[in-house]
Amino acid sequence: MKEALLYEKLENGRVRCRLCAHYCVIAEGKRGICAVRENREGVLYSLVYGKVVAQAVDPIEKKPLFHFYPGTEAFSIATVGCNFRCTFCQNADISQMPRERGQILGHDVPPQAIVEAARRYRCQSIAYTYTEPTIFFEYTYDIAQLAHQEGIANVYVTNGFMSAEMLDMISSGGDAPLIDAANVDLKAFRDEFYRRQCGGRLQPVLDSLVRMKERGIWLEVTTLVIPGLNDSDEELGEIARFIRTELGPETPWHVSRFHPTYKMLDRPPTPVSTVHRAREIGLAEGLHYVYEGNVLVSGGEDTRCPQCGRVIIRRMGFRVLENQAKGGICAYCGAPIAGVGL
Ligand code: SF4
Repeated sequence: MKEALLYEKLENGRVRCRLCAHYCVIAEGKRGICAVRENREGVLYSLVYGKVVAQAVDPIEKKPLFHFYPGTEAFSIATVGCNFRCTFCQNADISQMPRERGQILGHDVPPQAIVEAARRYRCQSIAYTYTEPTIFFEYTYDIAQLAHQEGIANVYVTNGFMSAEMLDMISSGGDAPLIDAANVDLKAFRDEFYRRQCGGRLQPVLDSLVRMKERGIWLEVTTLVIPGLNDSDEELGEIARFIRTELGPETPWHVSRFHPTYKMLDRPPTPVSTVHRAREIGLAEGLHYVYEGNVLVSGGEDTRCPQCGRVIIRRMGFRVLENQAKGGICAYCGAPIAGVGL
């Protein structure tokens, strides 16, 4: 157990956790909504510090991050737990384990060992992923500092429901932020969707996206398009407009295909035509880079130069087949291509 960062003590032994936008007030002996932070005699503890439940070496494209050191590997880790309870979660067995089964599984791995493993496997980055990294923040914070000392980047794959205080902490002191890149789920553009399907709220996610952009974190956004829930032209257009106006047209948007899972078994997989339509909506709105996820047709993962329209990075199944954007410049017309480490 590790004492939590970002909480305050209240009267009667209660504490307020300030790590995510739930801002749970937790009585003695109780846990927060994520079920991995516990108040013991007025002190808040993380129950998942160093408890790795999943780890793998993944292509960075699998996060998905398409404009951040393309073609490199990310050493990917997770602990159990989440501050959301999405009905369509693809990793519910580990994300909801503490809440649904009261279990916290994982083997103890100190931060230094994660960084050493990343180096051993020649990974350009460490990705905090599979579950929500915000809820194992203390662990990511310690690893991230060590990683930067070794020249290894840090990547969050997140629901964006962290607090402003947490984002301040990873980018304090005027230095470059500890988190170099993030793929943030923007799951819908309706607060009702967030409340009903995820147990969260929309506005804190939008606020986090803007704050991350302001702090210089490389951002890519993912929307899982679910039939009948968030797939209207109107809503997809609103998401694309928000990305363009608040985050910039160079921000990549990944629109991916839903498959029935966890508690959402009553809906069909997203038709491929819907994913194509979402991409067209994003491009028509003025986004430079819109990608199709979970769709096995050629072209949907390719990067086209926003100036000359040629394919400059060809991908298939998370692998880079060709890169004509070396140094962040289109090899055909010389236009700048947005990203980091291209
Ligand atoms: S991380 Fe979020 S959900 Fe968990 S205890 Fe803190 S405020 Fe509550």
